[in-house]
Amino acid sequence: MLVVLLALNWIISSFFLAPPERSPVSYTFFLSQVQGNNVAEITSTADTIEGQFKKEVAYTPTGDTKSEQVERFTTQRPSFADDDLFSSLQADNVPVNANPPDAPAPIWQQLLIGFGPTILLVALFIWISRRMAGAAGGGGVLGSFGKSRAKLYQPEGGPRTTFADVAGIQEVEQEVTEIVDFLREPDKYRKLGAQIPHGVLLSGPPGTGKTLLARAVAGEAQVPFFSISASEFIEAIVGVGASRVRDLFDQAKKVAPSIIFIDELDAIGRARGSAQSLGGNDEREQTLNQILTEMDGFTGSEGVVVLAATNRSEVLDPALLRPGRFDRRVVVSPPDLAGRHAILVVHTRGVPVAPGVDLDGIAASTPGMVGADLKNLVNEAALLAARRGHSQVQNNDFTDALEKIVLGTVRGLMLTPDEKERTAFHESGHALLGMLTPGADPVRKISIIPRGQALGVTFQSPSSDRYGYSAIYLRGRIIGALGGRAAEEVVFGDMTTGAESDLDQVSNIARQMVGRWGMSDAIGPVTVLPPPGQESPFGLDGVAPATRELVDSEVRKIVEECYTEALSLLRSHRPQLDSLAHRLLQTETLDEADAYAAAGISPSEAPGAVARGEAPGSAPAPGIPHPVATDAASANGVAASS
Ligand code: ADP
Ligand code: MG
Ligand code: ZN
Repeated sequence: MLVVLLALNWIISSFFLAPPERSPVSYTFFLSQVQGNNVAEITSTADTIEGQFKKEVAYTPTGDTKSEQVERFTTQRPSFADDDLFSSLQADNVPVNANPPDAPAPIWQQLLIGFGPTILLVALFIWISRRMAGAAGGGGVLGSFGKSRAKLYQPEGGPRTTFADVAGIQEVEQEVTEIVDFLREPDKYRKLGAQIPHGVLLSGPPGTGKTLLARAVAGEAQVPFFSISASEFIEAIVGVGASRVRDLFDQAKKVAPSIIFIDELDAIGRARGSAQSLGGNDEREQTLNQILTEMDGFTGSEGVVVLAATNRSEVLDPALLRPGRFDRRVVVSPPDLAGRHAILVVHTRGVPVAPGVDLDGIAASTPGMVGADLKNLVNEAALLAARRGHSQVQNNDFTDALEKIVLGTVRGLMLTPDEKERTAFHESGHALLGMLTPGADPVRKISIIPRGQALGVTFQSPSSDRYGYSAIYLRGRIIGALGGRAAEEVVFGDMTTGAESDLDQVSNIARQMVGRWGMSDAIGPVTVLPPPGQESPFGLDGVAPATRELVDSEVRKIVEECYTEALSLLRSHRPQLDSLAHRLLQTETLDEADAYAAAGISPSEAPGAVARGEAPGSAPAPGIPHPVATDAASANGVAASS
């Protein structure tokens, strides 16, 4: 290729370097121009005379009818010519040269123009491929595109991550340790005829510790550990992904027993030919196919185990999940109460915690938070303690940090008295309905200090972790979320934009009740809507238009019933609403005890405070944020929630 490129370059450049053509003219014509004093300069080589006229002249070659304009000319002097050419030229002061007129350009110039562009191009190419290979630590110049960029984990250098850094997900840890154990002592398992799984797939919500667990495996396994993020396979150049996969598995097999860790597998592992992958994702598909091929190629005796992590196992190609590939699937769920406590302990190891700090209490007030959230909480508390000049992190640092994370940062926004009053009634509406509705989560905090996008916040969280929701509870959530708007209508007879994010929550819950959880009579116990976030872009979800309309009318029915309920509850408890709102206007923030006292409801009597027996073990309902934070948001408000 290089040779062809150079040759082409040379030919093109010599074409450009070549002098312009000279037109042959007859000697007689030349002589007439000499006599007309129109010759600027001539050069002669033997009998050939080449030169230039002062002005362009029209010349008609013999036997031709068309004339042409000539400035640069060439002609032959016949040997019998016996004119006195030289003296007439001299008389006209025409310079006469005798060296070849069209001497080639100097050699360096020819070389530069002839090869320069090609050399520049090649240099650029080398530079780019160097840079791309840089992260992988070199490799051949042109071949490095196909090299995998997996990093071989180096145990030395930096503190190692170990299983002691992972807390609250014991079951998962155990599954993974078993694999590590097999790689260390394969004979123990082989004697019993057991076969090691080819692949282990960790799936679960973001921040639950999947990547952390893989790092811990790397730190403990004492076998080579290759780690790569799935998106690193994909390059703009088609075919690179597949060859990187091949290279990665070759490397791993060479040093087996070894572990390959592919993070964020969903980046390439999406189901082939699904609606989301419309639009030519050939490269991703090829890469995926290559992974499948490589995993099939294992006989099991190589001792290469593939560990993969994904946030969204439901979008993965079914072929990845069939036995013989990722045959062990481990779900990493958000931690429970004990798990959150254990994670807090891990992350407060390096933090001086004051003796009075109640980690159990913090764990109890953070349902739904995952490892990454808890790590962030500890860090925020430490930052707060440092800013306040504490020598140890105290309990109020933790509670204030939690408030900041859950409710948002306080914004220095000055509300007009009118707006403030409206917000107070709006939040009181949420809170009062939260206190009055049977089965609702207890109200922990109400505030009309603007935070983040919201003008005020009402914060509710359950007394214990929830894993499933009853229809009555969900209706209570809708009633509570509509409480803000209902209070505005009851008190001011008007509405504001502040309820936008409330209404989002309401429609979200109501749609799922109807379309996914079979909680409406008209639709019945079938799912007719795709899971949230997986809607097909063209509405091709196999649902009849009539059903769609029915869903809409059922959603409307539920919401209207709940709104009527909210209005009538607030009307019949108007004195309590007023007293709560006035108290809120005075103090701006009310915590649990003050709020219940201001509303004249004792928390123990409040129906929400009783323990509710819901079937444990069912998966947490998606799309229902917990804990609840209903807010009076500005026009583009977003509910603060974990
Ligand atoms: P993901 O599941 O999205 O890969 P990560 O493993 O990247 O989550 O978690 C991010 C951070 O959160 C970790 O680096 C760790 O500090 C913290 N973390 C998450 N889960 C746990 C856990 N179970 N135990 C201790 N720390 C955790
Ligand atoms: Mg991760
Ligand atoms: Zn609201």
